[in-house]
Amino acid sequence: LEIKEVGKVFKTKKGETTALEKTSFSVSEGEFVTILGPSGCGKSTVLRIAAGLEEATSGQVLIDGKPVSGPGPDRGMVFQSYTLYPWLTVKENITFGLKLKGVPQRERDHVARHYLQLIGLEGFEKHYPVQLSGGMKQRVAIARALANEPKILLMDEPFGALDAQTRNIMQEVLLKAWEESKKTILFITHDVEESIFLADSVYVMTARPGRLKKKVPITLERP
Ligand code: ADP
Repeated sequence: LEIKEVGKVFKTKKGETTALEKTSFSVSEGEFVTILGPSGCGKSTVLRIAAGLEEATSGQVLIDGKPVSGPGPDRGMVFQSYTLYPWLTVKENITFGLKLKGVPQRERDHVARHYLQLIGLEGFEKHYPVQLSGGMKQRVAIARALANEPKILLMDEPFGALDAQTRNIMQEVLLKAWEESKKTILFITHDVEESIFLADSVYVMTARPGRLKKKVPITLERP
């Protein structure tokens, strides 16, 4: 995944906000990269642009060297807030994308079993999200993203709403899932320890407000 000189200007009632300015970085195949930075520095924006959920004002997103626009099955997302379908069971949540693709029930059951085991939620397949703790819901969200077999997993502060202990457990769960699935992961966080614990490489995103009015120039550098 290559983010090339990406800029993003939001037009608001009060004027313009420059969220990103010539931001460039790349994530190699199979690499686990975190972007670390304070709140408001543009992490979510760059992740959403990589996901194709937001359009860049300038620059390009490349996957395998080819420019992409808009979302695609090659990228899976996990957000901070639990975005599970409340009316579906754990198993149905995990295999929802496969069902849309027409994958038969028997194969879906097989995939669900595999990911339930990977995330340590065997026996919970018939539960509904409302019956699960926050950490369990995030496990299901990760399993659901992986079950669609994206090349790249884009994660926006996925453990930000969890208590410290659950967060540590989830970091272990994610590393295990990553090692097994060999996914390329881009993970954003404002937590220094989390960032260092998880990543092969850490990019630090800094916000330097005040240089230009209403602008937040961004630099990205490998420390
Ligand atoms: P982070 O994820 O690092 O907290 P964001 O990417 O959410 O930062 O935000 C970067 C900057 O862009 C902030 O100044 C924020 O207010 C602004 N911003 C983000 N999304 C929007 C939007 N939809 N409209 C206007 N401004 C936005």
